[in-house]
Amino acid sequence: MPDTDLIKLTPAQERKLKIAAEQICELCYDYYPLSFLKIHRISRRLYKEMKRDPSTRIMVVCDLCHSHIHELPVPIGKQRAIIRERSFYIRRDMRKILGYKPKPYQAPDDVNLSMIFDEYFGRSPLGSYRISG
Ligand SMILES: [Zn+2]
Ligand SMILES: [Zn+2]
Repeated sequence: MPDTDLIKLTPAQERKLKIAAEQICELCYDYYPLSFLKIHRISRRLYKEMKRDPSTRIMVVCDLCHSHIHELPVPIGKQRAIIRERSFYIRRDMRKILGYKPKPYQAPDDVNLSMIFDEYFGRSPLGSYRISG
């Protein structure tokens, strides 16, 4: 069933979104090669109150989890909870890829500042990548 409320993405955007998510499935938290990852799109109709930010309507998931989302299905509330808990950096990168700029004076409504602080100082310097595992 075609859904015109889904975000349209170019293959280049899809690739960048997977990289922004550090190639980790947002449902099972495993690391996958790009070709095993899919962009799951959530219809705007299910997401009315957050429609301005397109990054809240996509999920990066592996092939298997993507089937689960559609076949079980994974409830929309759970999908949204996962998206809400996305790290500040991934959210920021995804917004950039999707061309969404939040208004500069807008107070962050769903970002926990102490979490950002911990995440920032927990990271290794000089852009090193995550320890594999
Ligand atoms: Zn998965
Ligand atoms: Zn999907």
